[in-house]
Amino acid sequence: MKTFRRILIANRGEIAVRIIRTLRDMGIESVAIYSDADRLSAHVAMADYAIHLSGVSSSDTYLNIPAILSCIQESHADAVHPGYGFLSENSDFAEAVAKHTQAQFIGPSVEAIRLMGDKLAAKKLMQAHKIPILPGSFGEIQNLQEVEQLAKELGYPIILKASAGGGGRGIRFIHSKADIAEAYESCRREAQAYFGNPSLFCERYIQNPRHIEFQVLFDRFGHGVHLFERDCTIQRRHQKLFEEAPSRYLNSKQREHFGALAVKAASLVQYSGVGTVEFICESPEQVYFMEMNTRIQVEHPITEQITGIDLIKEQILVAAGHKLTHQQADIPLRGWSMEARINAEDPLQNFAPSPGKITHLQLPMGPHVRVDTHLYPGYEVPSAYDSLLAKVIVWGHTREEAIERLKRSLREFDLSGIQTSIKFHEALLQDEDFLKGQFSTNFVELKKSEFLHRMNSQSSLEPELAAVLASVSLTLAFADSQTLPDADNNQFWIHKARAEACRE
Ligand code: ADP
Ligand code: ADP
Ligand code: MG
Repeated sequence: MKTFRRILIANRGEIAVRIIRTLRDMGIESVAIYSDADRLSAHVAMADYAIHLSGVSSSDTYLNIPAILSCIQESHADAVHPGYGFLSENSDFAEAVAKHTQAQFIGPSVEAIRLMGDKLAAKKLMQAHKIPILPGSFGEIQNLQEVEQLAKELGYPIILKASAGGGGRGIRFIHSKADIAEAYESCRREAQAYFGNPSLFCERYIQNPRHIEFQVLFDRFGHGVHLFERDCTIQRRHQKLFEEAPSRYLNSKQREHFGALAVKAASLVQYSGVGTVEFICESPEQVYFMEMNTRIQVEHPITEQITGIDLIKEQILVAAGHKLTHQQADIPLRGWSMEARINAEDPLQNFAPSPGKITHLQLPMGPHVRVDTHLYPGYEVPSAYDSLLAKVIVWGHTREEAIERLKRSLREFDLSGIQTSIKFHEALLQDEDFLKGQFSTNFVELKKSEFLHRMNSQSSLEPELAAVLASVSLTLAFADSQTLPDADNNQFWIHKARAEACRE
C-alpha cells in the first residue's frame, strides 16, 4: 500500500521509538529531531536520519515551530508525526505544516484540533447534539462572582478547568466559598503559563468518578469505528498511572452504547485518524463527555493488545488517504490488557522526580509482555522533560491472568540508578479493592498511607546491599546442606542472591 517515503517525528522518548518501529515495519524512513539533552537518546540512534535542535528547554526545541518547520524542509520528509504532548494538539502547528512545507500532518484537520482543543467549545457542540455533558458554566468565567453564583446553582464541590488544558494541568477543586479566590487566581495563572490562554470554565464535580475513554478511528471519507474503551481511573493529581482495557465497569450493552456516542462525537467535527473521547462516569448509566484528545494517546498499546490493530500504522494509512478497512462488527475484543506507567519518580517520597543515570537495566520479557521504552543501560534520564521512562504492557485471556502477568513482569523489571514508580504498581496489584475492580479517581489518594506502608515494607533494604548479604548467607547455607532453600517469589533480592550463590 503506498503511503509515505520519509516521516519526521516531532517528538522524543518512548513514543518516538515506538513510532520508528512501525515506520520500519512499513518500510518508511524515519527522521528524528533532538535537543542538546537528548543527544544520546535511543530515538536518535534508531532513526534513519537525525537533526539537532539547539537548546534544552521544550520551547527552544520540541515546541519550537519555526525550527521544526525548517527540519521538515531540510529532511524532505513527506509527513510529520507529532506523537503526544508537545505540538500534537497544536492547531497552529498543523496549519503551519500544511501551509509552509511539503509534508502532510499526521492527524485530523486543523479545524477538528482547534475545536476539540477548546474544552468549552467541545462541550457546547456535544450538548447541541444531545451527547450528555456535566452542567456548568456555558461560557468563559469572567470573574470571581460568577464562580460564586455557579457554586450556588450547582452546589459544592465544583471544578474549575482551563479551556485549553491538558496533561492534568489547569484543574482546581472548590469545596467551599473560602476556596474560590485562591483556586480562581492560581488556575488562571497556571492556564496562562502552560497553555498561553487564561480562559476558565466551571462544572459540577463528581465525587467518586471513573475515567473511561473510547478509542476512535476514522478515515477521511467519514467512515469511523471505535476500538472499545480503556479504564484510566487510577490517577494521581489527574494524571494517569495505570490503565486497563476493557473496563469491568461497563457491560457489553453499555460498551456498545458509549462506543456509539464516541463515534458520534468524533463525527461532529468530521474527524479523521485516531482520537480518544474521554468520559467521566458517575455510574455506568450516568456517563458524561469530558473532552476529546485529537492525537495518539500514551495508553494506546492496551487497545492494540485487545484488538490486534497497530494504531500508528492506521494513523499513517489514513493520513495517506487510504480508506478504513475495518467495520465495527469485525473488530475483535480479545482478552484483557494492562499498562503500568514507569515514571522516574519516587513513590516513597511523594512521587518526587528522580532523574539520573541508569546504571543497570534488564527489561521484562516473555509471553504477552510488551515494553515500550527509550531506556538502555547507561542512559542518563534528563530532568527537562516528562518523567515517563517505560510502559509495561501485558495481555491475558482474563483480567486475573493479566494481573498475574503484570506482577511477574514488574518483578523482572530490574533497574538501578534512579527511583521509579514500579513499587507503586506492585502495591496496587496487591490491593483487594483493585483486584475486585472497585475504585474511583480518588483511589490513590484514599489508599496513600496503606500503599506507603506496603511499599516501605517491600524496600526495607537497598537491593544491592540485600543481594550481597543474602549471597553470603545463601552460600554458607548451600555449603552446609548441599541444597538451596526455596526462594520467596516476591523477593527480588533472594533471586539475585541465588544467582550469585550458584555462580560461586
Ligand atoms: P494521555 O491522555 O495520552 O494519557 P497525558 O494526559 O498523560 O496523555 O499526557 C501525555 C503527555 O502530554 C504528558 O507529557 C502531558 O504533560 C502532555 N500534554 C497533554 N496535553 C497537553 C497539552 N494540552 N499541552 C501540553 N502538554 C500536554
Ligand atoms: P486533561 O485535559 O488534563 O486530561 P480532563 O478534563 O480530561 O483534563 O480531566 C482530567 C481528570 O480530572 C479526569 O480524568 C478526572 O480524574 C478529573 N476530572 C475532570 N473533570 C472532573 C469532574 N467534573 N469531576 C470530577 N473529576 C473530574
Ligand atoms: Mg483528559
